Amino acid sequence: LISEESKAAATPMMEQYIEIKAANPDLMLFYRMGDFYELFFDDAVDAARALSITLTKRGQHLGRDIPMCGVPVHAADDYLQKLIGLGFRVAVCEQTEDPAEAKKRGAKSVVRRDVTRLVTAGTLTEEKLLAPGESNFLMALSRVRGEGDNAFGLAWIDISTGIFRLSATSEDRLAADIMRVEPRELIVADTLFSDEKLRPVFDLLGRAVSPQPAVLFDSATARDRLARFFSVATLDGFGQFSRAEMSAAAAAVAYVEKTQINERPPLGIPEQDGGARTMFIDPATRANLELTRTMSGGRDGSLLKAVDRTVTSGGARLLGERLMSPLTAPDKIAQRLDSVAFFLGEAALCEDLRSRLKQVPDMPRALSRLALDRGGPRDLGAICQGLSVAREVAGALSVAEVPEEIANALAKLTALPQTLETQLSSTLAEELPLLKRDGGFVREGADRALDEARSLRDTSRRVIAGLQAQYAEETGVRGLKIKHNNVLGYFIEVTSLNARALTEGDDAKGKFIHRQTMANAMRFTTSELADLESRIANAAGEALAIELETFEKLRDAVVSEAEAIKAGALALAVLDVSAGFAVLAEAEAYCRPVVDETTAFGIVGGRHPVVEQALRQQSGGPFVANDCDLSPTEGDKGSLWLLTGPNMGGKSTFLRQNALIAILAQTGAFVPAESAHIGVVDRLFSRVGASDDLARGRSTFMVEMVETAAILNQAGPRSLVILDEIGRGTATFDGLSIAWAAVEHLHNSNGCRGLFATHFHELTILSEKLPRLVNATMRVKEWKGEVVFLHEVGPGAADRSYGIQVARLAGLPSSVVKRAKNVLARLEDADRKNPAASLIDDLPLFQVSMRTPEPEPQASAVEQMLEGMKPDDMTPREALDALYALKKQL
Ligand code: ADP
Repeated sequence: LISEESKAAATPMMEQYIEIKAANPDLMLFYRMGDFYELFFDDAVDAARALSITLTKRGQHLGRDIPMCGVPVHAADDYLQKLIGLGFRVAVCEQTEDPAEAKKRGAKSVVRRDVTRLVTAGTLTEEKLLAPGESNFLMALSRVRGEGDNAFGLAWIDISTGIFRLSATSEDRLAADIMRVEPRELIVADTLFSDEKLRPVFDLLGRAVSPQPAVLFDSATARDRLARFFSVATLDGFGQFSRAEMSAAAAAVAYVEKTQINERPPLGIPEQDGGARTMFIDPATRANLELTRTMSGGRDGSLLKAVDRTVTSGGARLLGERLMSPLTAPDKIAQRLDSVAFFLGEAALCEDLRSRLKQVPDMPRALSRLALDRGGPRDLGAICQGLSVAREVAGALSVAEVPEEIANALAKLTALPQTLETQLSSTLAEELPLLKRDGGFVREGADRALDEARSLRDTSRRVIAGLQAQYAEETGVRGLKIKHNNVLGYFIEVTSLNARALTEGDDAKGKFIHRQTMANAMRFTTSELADLESRIANAAGEALAIELETFEKLRDAVVSEAEAIKAGALALAVLDVSAGFAVLAEAEAYCRPVVDETTAFGIVGGRHPVVEQALRQQSGGPFVANDCDLSPTEGDKGSLWLLTGPNMGGKSTFLRQNALIAILAQTGAFVPAESAHIGVVDRLFSRVGASDDLARGRSTFMVEMVETAAILNQAGPRSLVILDEIGRGTATFDGLSIAWAAVEHLHNSNGCRGLFATHFHELTILSEKLPRLVNATMRVKEWKGEVVFLHEVGPGAADRSYGIQVARLAGLPSSVVKRAKNVLARLEDADRKNPAASLIDDLPLFQVSMRTPEPEPQASAVEQMLEGMKPDDMTPREALDALYALKKQL
């Protein structure tokens, strides 16, 4: 399509199209033609399929039909939303001159057109295209060699709110740090994109990854480019950033400029994000624990949904962000908890605050649209209302003694520009139109000239209404009407029978000018009417011009206060989140956790925040609270719990609830427990549930092993590890051996706190040898051959699996159940004659493990291999390979 030959053969319009398309090859081109955006060629085919709209053709090109489809401009947002959702990027090309101008240049001239913006998932601002309670981040990833460990830079921007953050990271944290932000779009240099080592990271994001020309990331010019964007001589005032961070930041800004063409969003100055000061949660754990969405992709059933009691969209976004990045500094956490405790203690104030917050519009997004010149009168109205609520909120809070975080928020609210609020409220009308070109948004009395123009317009309208009576009397036609339509403007209408009175009467003759003959009526005008009409048009035009001028003035005033407004909006969000947590704590009986620098982990009466609420909704009986104590008994290393119990006993629920409680506590929320003491968790790992990753050619077992390898390689003494059913995806002895070795490794090498749920009752023997390993079990009652799940965690080990009972509950045919019981009895009998315990004694690996720490005089091959391994230096891949090699030795 984009060849010279193709261009030469094209009609003038197609030539223009091809030229614009050539400049935006990777984007779908929305080409403006009158009231439609038209799409051609492959774009048309793709769009027609994606949007279920009709594919037609328009003329020919190089002897072939040109496929075409179109969407009406007024409905474009809906179609854009769908396309963006499907991973397309769109270039919007507008007519940049009046078609009349083009005609003047000659009959064949084409209207000038230009791409005015690129619409991509990471650079949206339209209310319709954005989810109110979710951030919409564009992220840039860069790599600068020779920066030591932290060779990667990440920069993320939400242009709809102006947030701009930077962080440096290393290869092993990369995926976690990206998924923590959940970017809608990730841009990378095309050179980096082709690095096979990073493929798994990019695969996590799928179509959201967009390779860009490497020059965007050029680190040599990054500082200068950023300084230019922010119009400062030097970036020193912004803080210290690594070269990788600079490169990512410059790329992100360049991409924003590229997509927004002529407009500039009100970006805040880049802030260093405390990636290292937040809890590390790897992407698998994040997904497994269903923090912001469930495994099936929905929001319902996620932790976020269960604990969200915010009432503003800014608050909902902040909550999401905080939950994705729990803190690791106890003093910062305590500060947030103080805010929650404050609102919990001031119920009336909290209630009052929340009812005010409900009136808060989305100020940052309105501000962003105004700055990008995409805003309308309602955006000005939103700022005005936001400022007014902020003032009220500040007033309401000034009565009490408040903790630090709230005091800081209060300071931001009181610093909001009151003059701007007055200016807006005294200028804007009560009811605001969506579009500024509709006029009518400036209130009466705000502008003298505007009032005059409007009154001129309105008086003329009244004069016209008076004319009708006057003409009726003059002509004697009682049914004479003065009407208005868009084609004729004002006109006089009489029935055909009466028309003679206007064309032949003495007085009337020459006064009424014929305009149009209809089936039953005739239409006339008079010079008087035409004159009034043009006065109305002029006055209305003048009024609109004044309104548009006023709009620009107000817009400038708002944008010049962008920083204060954003800070104020964030302050409101902080209050919303804290008050929301207080309401949650009150309604759900959550307690304030103690979070400190120890390695304690003591939960009394803990519950699963999501399952508890779900059970209540389905009236499925009460949730059974359970304790969990992983605190060190001596020294400073925490313990591991080995949890056995039947299927459906509640093992997974228990494992997850303890991880979720840690996350909530470090987010600064109260937690579903009677009491909780948590020594800061710096890294949280989980290996729960099993899901095939067939798209990447990995079996369930392979996924399980990759995730387990990552945990054994990375978990440290401050980590919390949750392992569910390791080794169940392979043959029993394989699985048992892996689980066995993994527990030993966690205990001896990682030294972390952890919960390990397993089917292999054989493992419980390990607690005799490993001092920090504690056996726990999910209790069940047997009653007339049935199992009753108590969902209670108690000390000790389960003696049976109750698999057959569960199978029966699940509705397995009774003949199968009967046969299974029979087989089981025989197997158990055989086992008695040749018990597994004796088997274990025969296995050197197990024997050695049980006799630690004394080394065997002759180290086995497996041991020697283990000896030589440095888990901290291994990639997950290498660890897995090693595991296979080890297995071969058995
Ligand atoms: P397991 O992992 O042992 O197979 P799950 O954790 O999946 O068991 O729990 C099975 C079901 O039991 C859950 O769907 C939940 O409804 C219920 N359950 C689990 N824990 C509790 C509890 N503490 N109180 C009440 N019901 C529970």
